[in-house]
Amino acid sequence: MTLAYIGIGSNLSEPTKQVRAAILNLDSLPDTDLIAQSSLYCSKPQGPQDQPDFVNAVAKINTKLKPLELLNELQQQEKEQGKVKKRHWGERVIDLDILLFADEIISSEKLTLPHPQIHLRDFVLLPLAEIETKIVIPNQPPITDLIKQLVETFVEIKI
Ligand code: ADP
Ligand code: MG
Repeated sequence: MTLAYIGIGSNLSEPTKQVRAAILNLDSLPDTDLIAQSSLYCSKPQGPQDQPDFVNAVAKINTKLKPLELLNELQQQEKEQGKVKKRHWGERVIDLDILLFADEIISSEKLTLPHPQIHLRDFVLLPLAEIETKIVIPNQPPITDLIKQLVETFVEIKI
């Protein structure tokens, strides 16, 4: 079994409902258990500002799936919740990103691990630190330092 952390975001079609549904679904994936979930965070959009605020969360799972199998399952779930790609960093009914997959480092066309933006996004770091205060992100300083060093912030409130 491998510990992995999933970043979840939504800003369309009742985002809170979408995020909660996506988190619950993680426990239904093959050979996968949901271990922990963060609070929900409301954040300003990154990128185009003419779109609704996001609801974000992080979930911790234990899985026997391989990284690409997990990515496929998450993309299947995104489709089931009706994700349609509109524009870069644009509005979406659900976004499921693999933040960390144990301490694996992967750089392929389909999958980059750790997620390349993880250290720059407060809407990922704050929920991640909430469920794993001492998480070690490969090739990064301690998460508390990453949070202190943030240049841009998006999170408005913890729901
Ligand atoms: P965003 O970058 O806004 O999350 P998408 O959700 O549309 O955009 O994802 C675009 C692509 O990112 C996916 O098709 C997937 O192959 C790729 N990708 C690379 N690394 C990851 C990762 N760690 N988690 C999820 N998707 C990833
Ligand atoms: Mg994504």
